[in-house]
Amino acid sequence: MLQLLPDYCLQRHNTLAIKAVAREFAEIRSVADLRDALKYANSRRLPLLALGGGSNIVLADDFPGLALHIQLSGREVIDENDEFVWLRVGAGENWQRTVDYCLNFHFWGLENLSLIPGSVGAAPIQNIGAYGVELKDLFAELQAMEVTSGVLVNFDRDACEFGYRDSVFKGRFRDRYIITSVTLKLRKEPKLVLDYPALRQALEGITADAITPELVSQTVCDIRRSKLPDPAVIPNAGSFFKNPVVSGAELARLKARFPDIAAFVLGQDSAKVAAGWLIERAGMKGVSRGKVAVHDQQALVLTNPGEGSGKDLLALANEVVERVQSIFGISLEMEPRVYL
Ligand code: FAD
Ligand code: NAP
Repeated sequence: MLQLLPDYCLQRHNTLAIKAVAREFAEIRSVADLRDALKYANSRRLPLLALGGGSNIVLADDFPGLALHIQLSGREVIDENDEFVWLRVGAGENWQRTVDYCLNFHFWGLENLSLIPGSVGAAPIQNIGAYGVELKDLFAELQAMEVTSGVLVNFDRDACEFGYRDSVFKGRFRDRYIITSVTLKLRKEPKLVLDYPALRQALEGITADAITPELVSQTVCDIRRSKLPDPAVIPNAGSFFKNPVVSGAELARLKARFPDIAAFVLGQDSAKVAAGWLIERAGMKGVSRGKVAVHDQQALVLTNPGEGSGKDLLALANEVVERVQSIFGISLEMEPRVYL
């Protein structure tokens, strides 16, 4: 039975620990709950906020509608052949617990995506990626409920239009669907991806046959713990900005002025510039502004150690954007979804 809680503080539901209040809040534990909640919100014209772990959102103000904490659970092998298993996972399952589950059952492929916070249902929204692997590499399909009609729809890989930290759910279909489950296509034999520099470096000296998926996962966890602030200790939302993509000509222009710029060629005429490098060079690494700060180990991460507001964070983010723009002529784009 759907239970609606009025004036609900979302501090525990976002990893920046912002004290925004939702007009109403509900836990969604079944597809029937979700349908009821959508009917309720539609009949009152309430805006909706789908919440997983709240690790990729900035609540810049109180939310004037219904926040739905998606708790749909369950993991089930729905098909297999000699090479692959297809694992359907409820949208509310925790991502890292799902990675651990797969390692335990020897369903391989998620190793490099270890220790990313949040839920399985949010993973397709920005096609989560780390250490050279993206969700799309392991993705088979997802099921989602259309907000206006309550109809369940399946999306295959092409339909999700995955891009770099991007999908159709951040663009054309933003706020149009709530994801209810994700089906992953995982390997029965490991196929390790070890070319990401930090990972390669950490595994240096270990013989190839000793490098197992479990070791890769553990190594990724170790690197992440050594570099990234734990949101439970220092509230943050991971990378606050996307790595900007520039043309070949633009990269040449930048390299002439900044020969040591951290950039990675993507295709014939495009390159990805490390946003963290730009922010550090702009002199913003480690700066604090009142209750919020740019992390002193990783400039891409903004933190909220002093229980600042969403507006405090956005003011700092704007200062970073302006500094980077004035020095490099590059416009940084925020990665988390901002709710104004
Ligand atoms: P939320 O923050 O709850 O939601 C994010 C967006 O998705 C919101 O717009 C929300 O409405 C929507 N949404 C959530 N669930 C659903 C659903 N079921 N249906 C429809 N819409 C939904 N990201 C990476 O890609 N790679 C990383 O390596 C990485 N590392 C991180 C490290 C740290 C310390 C932190 C704090 C974040 C990191 N992130 C990373 C960002 C974040 O963890 C991911 O984007 C994650 O997938 C967000 O999951 P969530 O459940 O917390 O989403
Ligand atoms: P890092 O290893 O210090 O590298 C800095 C940046 O350079 C990364 O953003 C990465 O891009 C890019 N990069 C490095 N080597 C590359 C290569 N060989 N080819 C292409 N791009 C390369 O990064 P980090 O901050 O410690 O993060 C490690 C991984 O975890 C990265 O993949 C990062 O995306 C992911 N992560 C993401 C978040 C988030 O919130 N989105 C938070 C923490 C970590 P990519 O980002 O494209 O990989």
